[in-house]
Amino acid sequence: MIEPFVYTALPARVVFGRDTIDELPAEVRRLGAGRVLILTTPEQTAAGDLAAERLGDLVAGRFSGAAMHTPTDVTKRALDVVRALDADCLLAIGGGSTTGLGKALALRTDLPQVAVPTTYAGSEMTSILGQTEHGRKTTLNDPAVLPETVVYDVNLTLTLPPVLSGKSGINAIAHAVEALYAQNRNPILSRLAEDGIAALARSLARIARDPNYIGARTDALYGAWLCAVCLGSAGVALHHKLCHVLGGSFDLPHADTHTAVLPHALAYNAPAVADAMQTLTRALGSDDPAGALFDLAREVGAETALSELGMPRDGIERAVELSLENPYWNPRPLEREALTATLRRAWSGERPE
Ligand code: NAD
Repeated sequence: MIEPFVYTALPARVVFGRDTIDELPAEVRRLGAGRVLILTTPEQTAAGDLAAERLGDLVAGRFSGAAMHTPTDVTKRALDVVRALDADCLLAIGGGSTTGLGKALALRTDLPQVAVPTTYAGSEMTSILGQTEHGRKTTLNDPAVLPETVVYDVNLTLTLPPVLSGKSGINAIAHAVEALYAQNRNPILSRLAEDGIAALARSLARIARDPNYIGARTDALYGAWLCAVCLGSAGVALHHKLCHVLGGSFDLPHADTHTAVLPHALAYNAPAVADAMQTLTRALGSDDPAGALFDLAREVGAETALSELGMPRDGIERAVELSLENPYWNPRPLEREALTATLRRAWSGERPE
């Protein structure tokens, strides 16, 4: 039986396919814009070139300083460029770091954004923005930061290195897993989550072996989009809390941490989320979903132990403490002992129980 629910969809126009960056001029004009600022990281200026070639004289200029965790000093420098160029549209081409810069600029200028994601992180479909100032990260949720248009071009994901693709894809799966048991879960998001997880689960191992296989790349990007919609509309729980604590306290890398933690966070919650486990059994084709996610991480070549990512052993207690101090809602109550055991297994990279 369908339980009563509330579903809030976030507005966004999505263009999905191959060679979709050819549509960028039409998409920019559709927003009534004609002076685009192209944003990239220093590592992805070649992707910026591709966008610039397509946009021709719609380009006002470029800023290639996007950085992890959206540092506010980078945003300030980019803001000066927006003003100097009198830009009327932001085009972020890259992963979550570049999308984050676009969002931070939109928050300050109200300019329309076109996001062209090249990883599976999913920031482009959310109204969440994390920013860092003096080493402290704060997160806000504001409809002003949601990109107006998202152009997914499978071709742009071909250069994403195989191991990074695997970790980024498992990061996306994590968004959908938590949507299945979120406090505000609903049947629509659960459908999207199931399809998104299945599309990523069937494609990531194949990408690890054959990164240029376009069928798997298409499935993975499609799955990432569905999982991103889940992140945009559903709440998050223990898994995301642990990742935020670990990332913030030990400066662990984003997608890597999600990949190592997810099987263990799911194993912790499993006894309390029977319906979600059934859905995951279908999506992953395994009656041991937590074990299947651990195996997937191994298959894509990711680290499965937090110790390998640089977390010190004596950090386990601190991470438990911080998770209990200011917890997110979670379907299973947070029990100190069980949580410590969970983090110990994640730290040493044991298969989840
Ligand atoms: P990223 O954007 O930091 O990218 C990692 C590196 O890979 C960068 O150097 C980038 O230029 C490069 N890269 C990206 N795509 C590539 C491609 N196709 N080919 C070659 N190189 C490529 O990593 P990410 O995991 O996409 O994003 C992580 C950041 O996004 C974190 O700061 C995280 O907090 C944020 N995030 C935010 C949300 C949200 O809703 N606000 C959601 C998910 C992630």
